[in-house]
Amino acid sequence: MKTALLTDTHTVKINDTERPEPAPHELLVEINACGVCTTDLHMYSGSLTIDYPLVPGHESAGEVAAVGDNVDDFRVGDRVAINPSVPCNECRACKSGRENLCHDLTSIGGAAKNIIDGAFAEYATVPIGNVERIGDLDYRTASFAEPLGCVINGIDQVDLTSGETVVVVGGGFIGQLLVQALRTSGAGTIVLSEPVAERREIGLEVGADHVVDPSDEDPTAVIPDLVGTVDVAIEAVGFPETITQALDLTGPGGRTLVFGVPPEDSMVELSPFDLFFEEREVVGSYSLTPNTFSRAVALLESGRIDVDTLVTDEFALEGLETAFEQMEAGKGLKKLVYPNR
Ligand SMILES: [Zn+2]
Ligand SMILES: [Zn+2]
Repeated sequence: MKTALLTDTHTVKINDTERPEPAPHELLVEINACGVCTTDLHMYSGSLTIDYPLVPGHESAGEVAAVGDNVDDFRVGDRVAINPSVPCNECRACKSGRENLCHDLTSIGGAAKNIIDGAFAEYATVPIGNVERIGDLDYRTASFAEPLGCVINGIDQVDLTSGETVVVVGGGFIGQLLVQALRTSGAGTIVLSEPVAERREIGLEVGADHVVDPSDEDPTAVIPDLVGTVDVAIEAVGFPETITQALDLTGPGGRTLVFGVPPEDSMVELSPFDLFFEEREVVGSYSLTPNTFSRAVALLESGRIDVDTLVTDEFALEGLETAFEQMEAGKGLKKLVYPNR
């Protein structure tokens, strides 16, 4: 089978390897769609330290091609979405339903303590606990289950209640998915802050009520003028400056969510008095759980997430490197790879 192998920084090799056999509790899945994520880009560019060689790809869906000896519930031909996070199911975090915080997390192609080969390949083996059935959902839409599971986990962290005013800072792919999931979760007014005009347009199309251009006007000044008190601010970029901006945006009782991946050594200042006196919260969100993954599939099946508007580029496996180059140049939004096309 063909795989897209990272052999070094900025090097993707299309490799021909033996098709793997599923272990007793695993499925062999023919990968029909896999989203390209910023995490893949970080692995490609070297800004995330990994051991090469590695097959990346963790946002995938496909068809069951073989089942392990102890698998009763799945058959060849079943259509599934793949959750790349394999928890140990034994540690305290796992037992409390917070598998994303597992002390011994393994990821199929994603970032985690242990990383195994991912889904930029014609086939991948997956434990049965890591798939959700997708009915007749198309594979392109089903590949959104992983990022949407992360977004749902994020929204869970801020205890959103109906009608609350939310600001999303950053209109990249994740920011746009956040806007949509917030809309379906009952948010009132949604504001998107994003410097790229094209992305502001997309934001309005997928559910933002207002957009602001932070390179033109200070969001912390204009947004409260526009919508009044901000209940929730979600940072979806990962810069200390935009995290500070999100903190400054929220009013009394406000919650700030750090969703973008900040540099490991970055710091931000915050006022403990404001936290105390205005009962503010600052929370983080990392990855997804089996629960949020399953809810993501249900939400995609409901048809309430607009996938078409967010997918800008599609490739065969050989096009993965071009996808990375486009991402480095800031071109487009979501890119998908179809390893079996
Ligand atoms: Zn991802
Ligand atoms: Zn665990």
